[in-house]
Amino acid sequence: MKSKINELNNLYSSVLDNIEQVRRCMGSHHIDHALVFLNTHHIKLDNEIVRIQYPIPTILCKLNGIQTKIGLDLATNETYIGFIKFTLTKEDLLSFNFEALRSFRIGIYGFYYYQELVNFDDLEQIKLNASRSGESVLHIKTRISSIKQIENIIDKMTEKKETSSQKRFSMISYVCDCQQQITIDTYSGQCPICGKDSPHKRKVEATCSICGRHCLKDQYGNGECENCGWQFERDEESLEKARGISYPMLVTPTTAREQFKKGLPFKATFNEFINGLYFYSEMQFEHDNIMYEVYFEHDEKIIFCSSEMIQEYSSREDFQNNAHINKRLLKDIWHEVKNPNFMQCG
Ligand SMILES: [Zn+2]
Ligand SMILES: [Zn+2]
Repeated sequence: MKSKINELNNLYSSVLDNIEQVRRCMGSHHIDHALVFLNTHHIKLDNEIVRIQYPIPTILCKLNGIQTKIGLDLATNETYIGFIKFTLTKEDLLSFNFEALRSFRIGIYGFYYYQELVNFDDLEQIKLNASRSGESVLHIKTRISSIKQIENIIDKMTEKKETSSQKRFSMISYVCDCQQQITIDTYSGQCPICGKDSPHKRKVEATCSICGRHCLKDQYGNGECENCGWQFERDEESLEKARGISYPMLVTPTTAREQFKKGLPFKATFNEFINGLYFYSEMQFEHDNIMYEVYFEHDEKIIFCSSEMIQEYSSREDFQNNAHINKRLLKDIWHEVKNPNFMQCG
């Protein structure tokens, strides 16, 4: 049994790699999606079709408002790795962006109805036929032979949204009340299957603690201010009081308010950075395009290093007063430091 599973895992590893690529593409387009697994599957083994149980990944999402399913499969030959299928009403079919599928052989079908779109010159006639069919729901389906094709379709189907460089890439996964495993790439998302708000949807009215503008938080008190870029945390004032930092921003609300007033970007002071070290144990910053790390070793010793150098300090005071970059004390050149923050994983 175990060797059978290993065999299947090896067999399907390319499928899982492919689905990861598609998910990354969805992530970069901020498309909410669900990853679901279909279990029963037929494969051809030694010229015999056998039914096996193996979780085949499928992505469900909406592209430009149209219910979309992307199924990936074993490459049985060079021209097939899966399919993309759109489910839509007849009205939506008339305005469907067929251009996104121009180089494909497309099947359009309902329960009783099937036609193939091979030549784009026939498109208008085919749309007309479909709209006259008795079907209320139609599917548009095409076979896919590379991940690049899927990425191209996603590119063409999704309107380019203006994303400010400030916008962080974020992704959360959770099990929705509809029992689907959902992955959404924005904090304002809804379950792409049942439409229920995600638990992290920003919908609680609030006032930004830094700039004073109106903003939205989630039910847990998390959120980010679109005006000043501050990221809220439920207990930010008490965290500042107790540890002299905020999380995940590091810079304290008090410092952030001063910086906002002066029109400066948020940046932790050297002292806040060290407070962060004692809170989180691993920190990083940039100086002169070089990444530096500061972390604890054996609980006591503070290591300060880059790929070029390494320094050791025995205490907070020792680090604070003596850490240096090329003999220039860190405390004196803190204004040159960029992005001091908690160590980012990955
Ligand atoms: Zn749901
Ligand atoms: Zn704000």
